[in-house]
Parts: sequence; C-alpha cells; structure tokens
Amino acid sequence: MEGLSTRLIHHPYRAPDGFDAAPVAVHKASTVFFPNVAALRTRRWQDKSGYTYGLHGTPTTFTLEERLATLEGARHCVLAPSGLAAIALVDLALLRAGDEVLIPDHAYGPNLALAQHELAGWGITHRIYDPMDPADLAASIGERTRLVWLEAAGSVTLEFPDVPALVEVVRRANAGRTRPIVTALDDTWGAGVAYQPFDWGVDVTMQALTKYASGGADVLMGAVCTRDEALHHALLMTHMRLGLGVGANDAEAVLRGLPSLELRYRAQDERCRTLAQWLARQPRVARVLHPALPGSPGHEHWRRLARGAAALLTVVFEPDVAPQRVDAFCDALRLFRLGYSWAGPVSLCMPYDIPAMRQRPWPHAPRVVRLAIGLEDVEDLRQDLAQAWRKLG
Ligand SMILES: *Cc1c(COP(=O)(O)O)cnc(C)c1O
Repeated sequence: MEGLSTRLIHHPYRAPDGFDAAPVAVHKASTVFFPNVAALRTRRWQDKSGYTYGLHGTPTTFTLEERLATLEGARHCVLAPSGLAAIALVDLALLRAGDEVLIPDHAYGPNLALAQHELAGWGITHRIYDPMDPADLAASIGERTRLVWLEAAGSVTLEFPDVPALVEVVRRANAGRTRPIVTALDDTWGAGVAYQPFDWGVDVTMQALTKYASGGADVLMGAVCTRDEALHHALLMTHMRLGLGVGANDAEAVLRGLPSLELRYRAQDERCRTLAQWLARQPRVARVLHPALPGSPGHEHWRRLARGAAALLTVVFEPDVAPQRVDAFCDALRLFRLGYSWAGPVSLCMPYDIPAMRQRPWPHAPRVVRLAIGLEDVEDLRQDLAQAWRKLG
C-alpha cells in the first residue's frame, strides 16, 4: 500500500456525475495534468477547448468570461485583476513606441495617469480630446494615433457623449490606413445594462467588475471584451505574457453577482434619480450632474442612446459655498460613507476638485461632491443628506 501522503495526494475523488446545479464550482489549480505528451502538445487554451495551466484559464474563469461576453454583446472576454489592470492590458496590447493614444477629458483619472507616466516613458504619447465635441476628436487624430478611449458617462462630471458620432469620426479617419485606429470604451458606468457599445461600432470594451458585476464591494476585477478575432488574439497574447490572472474565489464571487446585476442596476438607478431630483431643488446647489436630468451635459444623447443610468450623481455647489463647508458636509454624513469605488450596497460620498483633474475650463465652483447610491432605503438616504446639508451654511 502506498504511503499516507501519496494516498492523500493521489486520491480517487471526482466531482459527482449527475450533480447538475446552477452555481459554478470554484476550480483552483496552477498545474493541470496531461495524461501523456501527445495531449501536452495538442491542448489549446487559446480557444477554451482545453486546460493547460491555471494562469491560462480554469472552468470557473472560462465560464465567467463567457457570461461577461454575453453581458457585453461581445464574442470574447479576458479577465484582469482589476478594472485598472484591464485598461493597462488594452494599452499594452495595442500601443507601441511611437504610437499616440487619445483620451477623453472626462476619463477615469488613472487611465490618464498611466499614459502620463508609464506610456510616456515607453515613447507612447497621448493627447486629450473633448468628448462632447466630435470635431475636436477629428482634429486630435494624427498619423500616429492608434487607440481612442471613450467613456459614457464620464467619470465624476458624468457628461454623456454622442458615442456613435465619435466612433464615426474614427471610422472615417481609418479609411486607407494600414494600421486602423482602435476604439476602446470604458463600460463600467453602463455595466452592459444601460447600452450595448458594440452596436455603436466600438471595437473593445473594458469594465471594472469591481463595481456592478460584483455588486458586493468585496472583489477587484476587470474584463476586456471584443467581437474582433484579431483584437482578441492580441489581447489574449499580451494577457498571457504579462501573467495576468484572477483568483478562483473572486471569479466565483462575480459569477454570483451576475444573476442580480440588472435588478441591482435598475433599483440603484431609481434611488439615484429620486435623490438627484431632490438635490437639484435644495438651496446652495448650482446644479446636479446626472445624465437623466434635463440640462445635464449630454442629456439628449443619453435619452437617445441609453436605457438606464448608473447610480452616480455629482453635486455642484453655488460659487460662494466655501470648500471647507463642502468638506464639513461630507464629514457630517452618516449613512453615506467616505470612500472610493461605487455600485456596492453602501452609499458613498467623495469630494473632488475638478480643475485639478481636467484640461477644459470648468466654469463652476471647483469642489464638487460625487455621491454613489447603494441599496439602502431611499428615504433614509434623503434624511441623511438633509441633516448634513446644515453644514453648508
Ligand atoms: C473603478 C473604475 C475603474 C477601475 O476599476 P478598479 O477595479 O478599481 O481598478 C475604471 N473605470 C471606471 C470608470 C471606474 O469607475
């Protein structure tokens, strides 16, 4: 008889046949065994027809990628350890020294920071364009442009651009090019629920699954999706060479979040709009930024292009409200917690200074407050805002 350790390691256990259930099993492995050398030589993880190594995919991560491709209306998906890692993956897969990337002025801040530091150091330049002006994008495209980032709605200021018009600008610029410009949309706000970006002609999408897909504020993960075989291949190879992987338990947590994704999105959207309308009527408010509010930048585009909105709003105060008063308001909130990220169960508050984040002129008071609405009772949230409002003076 073999020794105890040997028997414990080479155990005969197999997942029971006939255990047909909805939840996906958490498959964990670095090593995947091959029965013989012929299998070693022929197995392919690239098309998900086989398993070769934990980093190249497991039944759990392949299932999650397949469901996210379905969510996005894409054909392919690769997972990354965070939303920001997914942005970096797109940049590194598509950009080479001498290329230029165009980034909208309202992009997620770390997307720009990556371009300013790492990409710049590798000889990749960037340029910022006004996402609300397709003519400005057209004028920003040059010989070296290789990638155009898009975001709808924008981070913090929540302008909703005419994405199909921006994509059309790139399509026209691509006529006659040997290396076409690729469009990549940060779909974290839309989450695969508010719109289908591939129907607008976008080439690549990324999502911070950290937000809605997880929904629990307990996972960091990102996804990059595409319908294009060649783009997917480029992304997949860079993904492999960078050694990007995600934990099996985290993948399972996102799989658990997906069935309730749309319900959560719609419920949080409704709460957020109720509060946005209430906030817009409060004293000391210059305006509330939320694409569903008439007068919010890009409201008309949002109405035409989207079915729903993420649970984010930004309050712009009257110019005579001192920044310290805004901070005191944030500190006085009790249910709204101070913290980064959004789309989890807990409502969050974050002050931002817009002029420090943007190139375009900002004609309002610099310090704004972004609120991310969670799943609490909306009347409790309204009362919390009302009691903290006194700090605004
Ligand atoms: C949060 C966020 C990201 C980054 O996601 P992480 O998982 O936190 O790295 C990217 N884009 C947008 C729009 C985000 O809100």
